[in-house]
Amino acid sequence: MRPDKKDLIELLSTRGEENLAALYKKAYEIKKKYVGTSVYLRGLIELSNICSKNCYYCGIRSGNKEVNRYQISLEEAIEEAKLCLDFHYGSIVIQAGEREDKPWIEFITKLVKSVKELSDNQLGITLSLGEQELDVYQQWFEAGAHRYLLRIETSNRKLYQDLHPADHNFEHRLNCLHLLRQCGYQVGTGVMTGLPGQTIEDLANDILFFYDENIDMLGMGPFIPHHNTPFKYLIDSFNPIESLNMGLKMIAVCRIALKDVNIASTTALQAIHPEGRELGLKAGANVLMPNITDTKYRAGYQLYEGKPGLNETAIQFQNELEKHIYAIGETIGYDQWGDSKHFFKRINKRKSEANTEN
Ligand code: SAH
Ligand code: SF4
Repeated sequence: MRPDKKDLIELLSTRGEENLAALYKKAYEIKKKYVGTSVYLRGLIELSNICSKNCYYCGIRSGNKEVNRYQISLEEAIEEAKLCLDFHYGSIVIQAGEREDKPWIEFITKLVKSVKELSDNQLGITLSLGEQELDVYQQWFEAGAHRYLLRIETSNRKLYQDLHPADHNFEHRLNCLHLLRQCGYQVGTGVMTGLPGQTIEDLANDILFFYDENIDMLGMGPFIPHHNTPFKYLIDSFNPIESLNMGLKMIAVCRIALKDVNIASTTALQAIHPEGRELGLKAGANVLMPNITDTKYRAGYQLYEGKPGLNETAIQFQNELEKHIYAIGETIGYDQWGDSKHFFKRINKRKSEANTEN
């Protein structure tokens, strides 16, 4: 059933420790019922910070001339994927700035094929490489990627315009989500919470957008101002507690409203609170994306201020991770892709509709 906007606004407006605890508890019950309490891990490779876009909020936007740009080589990326296999993470996420040039497209295709080969198809691959043409999405899907993350950032078109230069287009980004679905990907999107100018009603509309677009996976996190962006003036007034609560509330309300989608507990939560990741799981998220990028590149991938784990190697992180997850009474879905249950429901529904039409 389509969620009711008034109910969403009410839930998103929850305040006070007790009320928030009750909201997270409710979301957790729904998570247990629909997706269980196994956390699925995706090793995150931040493949390159070269980006042709200039989103006003982002620390690696093309207009930031103080960033040392890098691109990880095929060999290094393959080594990182192998590390995921050793850690028994079921999947990897390949993320980078947006590029549409041919060498880049071919490089990704080669990397996806290589990871599939080296892991004997064991590692699932999610891509997060921005807006592309249909044939590019198709090429990468055929190479072996099966999930794609493309955040809409906000479903409010006016706010989207305010956050981006004039040549960044909401309709184009939305159409990309449709193209991804057409190719057969499990489609992930998401928004930032606490954006300048964003209201609670906007967030409620975002959830309705996820519902209407039949989204399979969500990656959402608090907006954190970065010193080398037009939003640097917000650094002084940034309130980490408010921002954390809004991020957690959004996860909880999405879980309550959408039930069987995969929801990631994102690094941005951890950037503003040392236990942000666990709090995200307790508020309804069921996916974690441990950063496995070689530490020598991490300083170059600062989308926002205070990104954690700059010097923490993947091995150190892995040692800590288990402890933290077991401590909140959850298990880890090692060696599993942990696909979105919503995706299979949507596919089966389509199949049964086709059968009844025949
Ligand atoms: N270039 C790709 C993927 C990398 S950016 C793309 O844009 O889709 C991944 C996400 O980082 C973005 O979707 C955005 O939601 C998030 N992000 C960027 N700047 C941020 C900031 N200042 N605070 C929080 N999240 C940010
Ligand atoms: Fe580039 Fe993505 Fe950052 Fe926008 S959000 S500037 S597309 S890396």
